[in-house]
Amino acid sequence: MVSPDSVLEPANISAESLDDLARQSASLESAEPHEIIRFAVERYGNKLTMATAFGPEGCAIIHWLASIAPQTYIFNLDTGYQFQETLQLRDTIANRYGVNVVLEQPETTVAEYERIHGGPLYRTDSNRCCGDRKIAVIGRVLTRFDAWMSGIRRDQSVDRAAAAIVGWDTKFGVVKISPLANWTKAKVWDLIIRENIPYNPLHDQGYVSIGCFPCTRAITTDDDERAGRWSGTAKTECGLHVRED
Ligand code: SF4
Repeated sequence: MVSPDSVLEPANISAESLDDLARQSASLESAEPHEIIRFAVERYGNKLTMATAFGPEGCAIIHWLASIAPQTYIFNLDTGYQFQETLQLRDTIANRYGVNVVLEQPETTVAEYERIHGGPLYRTDSNRCCGDRKIAVIGRVLTRFDAWMSGIRRDQSVDRAAAAIVGWDTKFGVVKISPLANWTKAKVWDLIIRENIPYNPLHDQGYVSIGCFPCTRAITTDDDERAGRWSGTAKTECGLHVRED
């Protein structure tokens, strides 16, 4: 079992390298997302990857990456519990940008997993389910890379408020780059509308943050942005973006 709070491998990095990342991050605080993406591509080349759940932020980054470095390895954690609309968006993005987002899957199918555990674990142990079907998978993928990019924003939640633009990801032992850390939800949606970037149609039905269908619900405009995830439980993150330090 892989807990969302597990550190998957020793996170060895020198103090000097940490200082270098901190300096780099500080120098990019006022940079635009596409400039941060360009920095990431130039610094890490084919050792850079990007993870996306096809949220609006991920779609925006793909929009920029498609012109800056379309060969970048982009992947989605395909838990087997994603909405059909999410998987269709992958095809829409491929048609629009010629970018193939690789579906990275757990070792077991949903049917096998539920048979092993006597039913769906998302009902009884969602931490373990996320650990097995997300954290273990991204941990496996990131062993092939030096840096990964994600679409998190600081204003999404308390957990994400301290996200560095460039920082060391202690959980996975790689550099983590967040080009949209300083952006707001409004700025992301302005870009999507202006550039006609494809997005998940569920956003038009009250779904704000979209993950697996058993753990996502539509919310009202008064709710917190991530209130629709693991609703009714204390869980707020699957563990990908939880700081270890
Ligand atoms: S979000 Fe829900 S269904 Fe998806 S991996 Fe986590 S617990 Fe399982």
